[in-house]
Amino acid sequence: MNNDELIQREYLNKAKACVEEYKRLIGHEPSSCVVTFGCQMNARDSEKLTGILKEAGFTITDDENADLVLYNTCTVRDNANQRVYGRLGHLNSLKKKNPHKKIVLCGCMMQEETVLSKIKESYGFVDLIFGTHNIFKFAELLCRMFESDGMIVDIWKDCDRIVEELPTIRKFSYKSGVNIMFGCDNFCSYCIVPYVRGRERSRKSEDIINEIKALADDGVIEIMLLGQNVNSYGKNLDEDITFAKLLSEVENIDGIERIRFMTSHPKDLSDELIEVMKDSKKICRHLHLPLQAGSNKILKAMNRRYTKESYIDLALKIRDKIPDIALTTDIIVGFPGETDEDVDDTIDVIKKVGFDNAFTFIYSKRTGTPAASMEQVDEDTVKRNFDRVLKVVQETARNAVSQYEGKVMDALCESVNEHDKAMLDGRLSNNTIVHFKGDDALIGKIVPVRLVECHGFYFTGELCRNL
Ligand code: SF4
Repeated sequence: MNNDELIQREYLNKAKACVEEYKRLIGHEPSSCVVTFGCQMNARDSEKLTGILKEAGFTITDDENADLVLYNTCTVRDNANQRVYGRLGHLNSLKKKNPHKKIVLCGCMMQEETVLSKIKESYGFVDLIFGTHNIFKFAELLCRMFESDGMIVDIWKDCDRIVEELPTIRKFSYKSGVNIMFGCDNFCSYCIVPYVRGRERSRKSEDIINEIKALADDGVIEIMLLGQNVNSYGKNLDEDITFAKLLSEVENIDGIERIRFMTSHPKDLSDELIEVMKDSKKICRHLHLPLQAGSNKILKAMNRRYTKESYIDLALKIRDKIPDIALTTDIIVGFPGETDEDVDDTIDVIKKVGFDNAFTFIYSKRTGTPAASMEQVDEDTVKRNFDRVLKVVQETARNAVSQYEGKVMDALCESVNEHDKAMLDGRLSNNTIVHFKGDDALIGKIVPVRLVECHGFYFTGELCRNL
């Protein structure tokens, strides 16, 4: 254990005493609710925050009537901020009925100075605010919150260290996200992430391997390696390690049956990685490779550092080497200066690559990013082009996904279907969802399913019992 871990271990013991005191004050077992906004990196952070709350003595619930509610926020697009402001109003009304209620805010949104001053000014009922760099200090911050009457704010501009050994409560028994690195150095001109998640720093491969071995011992069969740009893993480490080498080491861990990772950056995706994926028995047949735009003019303005041609070459090379790979992507429509011709280029890439799916977003101006001061495209043009792109994405995806109709493929049973309790939701190696009849005892297991009918992005199927 390093010094930070030892100190936080001590604070966790101190937090237990604070929570005992709080329990006497409120007269019942204190409950807590952690709400996650945004990406899988945030979801993994929330599992650590939940682990610390549990160890400090809180029960865990997903009901916001809990004694302590924590919002782990996202700020990748403006609507994420607006959602949090909207829900804070509701939390305030709950706090009026329960004055001992504690409200905690953390995550990317809290790293924005404009947000912080707005919260301090208009949401004075919030008890604790911290950011993305000092999650490991949560036990210490809980103590400070209980020992003070006012709002505690602890935001770090950046962080050069990684603290391991935090208590964690996983959302799923059979799968888990594993952070391999934090931060991003790419500074795409529309993106707020480098400003709220800081500079790239990779975890030591030994710590990652040990964490995955422990997860496997605990029944996890699928892991998702997480980073803003996993392809630059290892750059700040003394050890001679690359992302491809790390994947090869993870491949050898007994008990892990499936390996996923996100997010990749096209400019850093190596031939070494393609070879490792091609020869792997465990790396899933899915690669998420954000394109963002198809026009070289826009890619330059976005500071993406690849061209339309190099992206298409890379995607087709991957398809050639790994024929059963599913390629998905992210696309932004409406980036400043984008013309109809630029969107034609985007559509051309979608058709040439034939994406299995694409997440299409309308450009969202983020204060503090270079693109925010560029001339914005009018809403009607953005809407019209967004619809054009979406139509091509849906057609292309249906063509790509429907080729598997009638086949039998392995699916990891993830959950009971929300709309039909007799159905299970399964995920294929290529990340496509299949719904099929089955018993919830299959959840967490990989089973063969016949893909009976394609419905665009997903299938309905039937469990193959005799195979
Ligand atoms: S690679 Fe670009 S889009 Fe992705 S997190 Fe980094 S700056 Fe943002």
